[in-house]
Amino acid sequence: MSDSGTGRSAGSGDGTRAVRAGLPEPVKNQPHLPGPAFAAHFHLPGDVDGPYTYGRDQNPTWSLLERAIGELEAPGQEGVETLTFASGMAAISSVVFSQLHAGDTVVLPSDGYQVLPLVRAQLEAYGIEVRTAPTGGDAQLDVLDGAKLLWLESPSNPGLDVCDIRRLVEAAHAGGTLVAVDNTLATPLGQRPLELGADFAVASGTKQLTGHGDVLLGYVVGRDAEAMAAVRRWRKIVGAIPGPMEAWLAHRSIATLQLRVDRQCATALTVAEALRKRPEVAGLRYPGLPDDPSHKIASQQMRRYGCVISFTLPTRAHADRFLDAARLVDDATSFGGVRSTAERRGRWGGDAVPEGFIRFSVGAEDPEDLVADVLRALDASAE
Ligand SMILES: *Cc1c(COP(=O)(O)O)cnc(C)c1O
Repeated sequence: MSDSGTGRSAGSGDGTRAVRAGLPEPVKNQPHLPGPAFAAHFHLPGDVDGPYTYGRDQNPTWSLLERAIGELEAPGQEGVETLTFASGMAAISSVVFSQLHAGDTVVLPSDGYQVLPLVRAQLEAYGIEVRTAPTGGDAQLDVLDGAKLLWLESPSNPGLDVCDIRRLVEAAHAGGTLVAVDNTLATPLGQRPLELGADFAVASGTKQLTGHGDVLLGYVVGRDAEAMAAVRRWRKIVGAIPGPMEAWLAHRSIATLQLRVDRQCATALTVAEALRKRPEVAGLRYPGLPDDPSHKIASQQMRRYGCVISFTLPTRAHADRFLDAARLVDDATSFGGVRSTAERRGRWGGDAVPEGFIRFSVGAEDPEDLVADVLRALDASAE
């Protein structure tokens, strides 16, 4: 159980909030962040009451992490509840499958996370109508009529389009439609969907929230008690729970969130500016670039623009040579880690991207080192 109270955190800046998020009242001779509670079951004499009974239902290490995430996603908001999950997909599935029933309609982005088409197939198998539209241009507005749930992903992964969350929420709520926003790419320091009116902020904590590429995690933050009770029930039924060690690692990692996000976002802009001068680079996207198609709306609803940029090299071979030549950029999927990663996204299939399309996640290296490495790799990959 968690609330969004700012607890003992005296400051309101993101860095202060991040380093103190979710910490319990200090206890003499005890660590400030208690270690992971490894327990499948808890001492439970007599009546079944109190918060901790069985390890699939609740765990004190999750409780602290859930409080921390709630403080970041919805600072100062009352009545907000946070639930953590084994992965981002566990969090997404728990919202979607707990809120929708046969005969309902859901609107998904057509350009969202690559597993959404599998979710779509499963929803349809359960008799739920699925409509899709692109993120850019708020196109999901056009297919909203009568939907039970609107799912937004802004910025979208990997295309980096942005939608006007407030505008979509207003239209959705006018028709009685709940709204969930996938906040993975932005992180709560980049964007706070609940403040923009959304009913759920959902994310993969696997990416920049934890930032070291060593943990899978997901979370749901919501303010509708009934809806959240259904999400909690779904987590219990499916058992999609985080391990105590993962939850603790995530909580420890959140202490550096502001440092990492600020560094990585600033360097992402620097790398994007260096890439735009290169003739072989096409379709460069970064919402933080002032002339990016996403920038106007992003600047209204985001406080930081994320660490992911995307661009297209002329051919698949050219992109592969670039990825081979870069020494500070690991060829890997996922994003948000302290070490830069990039991949040719088309290798997975599924995303509607050109063969030479690269999704680049900017890490915490020194910006001059990273830019030099990227430019050298581009030189080396030219024919
Ligand atoms: C990675 C990702 C997910 C899924 O998260 P997992 O932790 O891998 O299950 C969902 N949405 C977005 C936008 C992602 O990037």
